Amino acid sequence: MHIHIVGAGVAGLVTAATCLDRGHTVELFERHSETGKDACSWWAGGMLAPWCEVESAEQAVLDLGAPAIDWWEEHVSSVERKGTLVVAPSRDVGELDRFSRRTSDFETLDAEAIALLEPDLAGRFRRGLYFKQEAHLSPRLALADLAHSIQTKGGVIHYRADDRTSAQAPADRVIDARGFAARKDLPDMRGVKGEMLILKTRDVSLSRPVRLLHPRIPLYIVPRGDGLYMVGATMIESEDRERITARSMVELLNSAYTLHPAFGEAEIVEIGVDVRPAFPDNLPRVQEIDNTVYINGFYRHGFLLTPAYSGKAVDLIEEKAS
Ligand SMILES: Cc1cc2nc3c(=O)[nH]c(=O)nc-3n(C[C@H](O)[C@H](O)[C@H](O)COP(=O)(O)OP(=O)(O)OC[C@H]3O[C@@H](n4cnc5c(N)ncnc54)[C@H](O)[C@@H]3O)c2cc1C
Repeated sequence: MHIHIVGAGVAGLVTAATCLDRGHTVELFERHSETGKDACSWWAGGMLAPWCEVESAEQAVLDLGAPAIDWWEEHVSSVERKGTLVVAPSRDVGELDRFSRRTSDFETLDAEAIALLEPDLAGRFRRGLYFKQEAHLSPRLALADLAHSIQTKGGVIHYRADDRTSAQAPADRVIDARGFAARKDLPDMRGVKGEMLILKTRDVSLSRPVRLLHPRIPLYIVPRGDGLYMVGATMIESEDRERITARSMVELLNSAYTLHPAFGEAEIVEIGVDVRPAFPDNLPRVQEIDNTVYINGFYRHGFLLTPAYSGKAVDLIEEKAS
C-alpha cells in the first residue's frame, strides 16, 4: 500500500519506518521546515526506561515498552544500554523504598556500588536502585537518523507541507501523527506541560540517566555526551507550550545541584518546554476516525511506546485491506 503520514515527530517517523519494514511505500508530510524542530519529541529526555516508568504507569508501559529498546537499536545509532540509576537524598530515602515496592528487576546498591557505577557520585548517596536493562538515546540524533534511513529506503518526506497538502495527493491510507496539534479531532486529549534544561559542564561525568527521587518533584538527568546533560522534566496539567516558570527553573536546577554541586557552575545551554499529548488513562491510542488512522497520546512515552503502537497502526491498515 501507499501510505501518507501527517506529522514527522517520533510517532510519524517510527510509523513510517514500520511501514517501510513491512514493505509499504510512504510519504510523510511535516509542516515545519526541519525534522523535529516544532515537535514535542525534540525536548524529550530519550529515556527508554519501562521498568522505572511502571512506578507511576500501567503494566502495559512495561510490556509494550521493553521491546522498544531492541527496535531503536536496530533503527538508529545513538542507543546506549547502560541502565538507569535511581537515588534519593538522605532526607527522602523513604522514597527509594516506595519506588522499589512499585517496580521490579533492579539491584539495590550501597554507597560503594554506586561509586563503582558512577565514580563522580562517590560518597554522595548511601543507597540506590540500578535498573540495568534500561537504555537511553539522544532524541534529536534519533529523529535525524530515522528521517535519513526513511529517505534512504525510498520514503519521501515533504517539509513545509501539512494535512491539506497530503489530502491533495493520492494515497491508499492516511495516518495522522500530528501529536498535540490533532487535539481538535481528538476531544478527550489534554496537554501535560514538560519543561527541561540542557546544562554543560566538564566537572561532572555521568554515563547513564540518573533519577533523583523527591516526594513532589522527581527529576532526572540524562547525559548527552560532550559535557551536556538534559535535566527534566516537569509534569504540569497545562497546554502552555511557550513559557518555563521561575519555579520550574529553580526545581530543575536544584535537582541537578543536589545530585552534584558541580552542576552549580554549569552553563545553561538551553531551556525547553512543550506539551505532551495525553488521553485520560495516559496510554496512547490507535483509532480510526473518518477513514484516517490516528496514532497519538504518547504522554511521557513517545520514544518508549511508538514502536509498539506504530505496529498496531499498520496492523489495523493491513487487516482492513485484506
Ligand atoms: C520535557 C519532555 C521530556 C520527555 N521525555 C521523554 C522520554 O525520556 N522518553 C519518552 O519516551 N518520551 C518522553 N517525552 C514524551 C515525548 O516527547 C512525547 O510523547 C512525543 O514527543 C510525542 O510525539 P508525537 O510524534 O506524537 O508528537 P510531536 O513530537 O509533537 O510531533 C508532531 C509533529 O507533527 C507536526 N505537525 C503538527 N501539525 C501538522 C500538520 N497540520 N501538518 C503536518 N505536520 C504537522 C509537528 O510539526 C510535529 O513535527 C518527553 C516529553 C517532554 C515534553
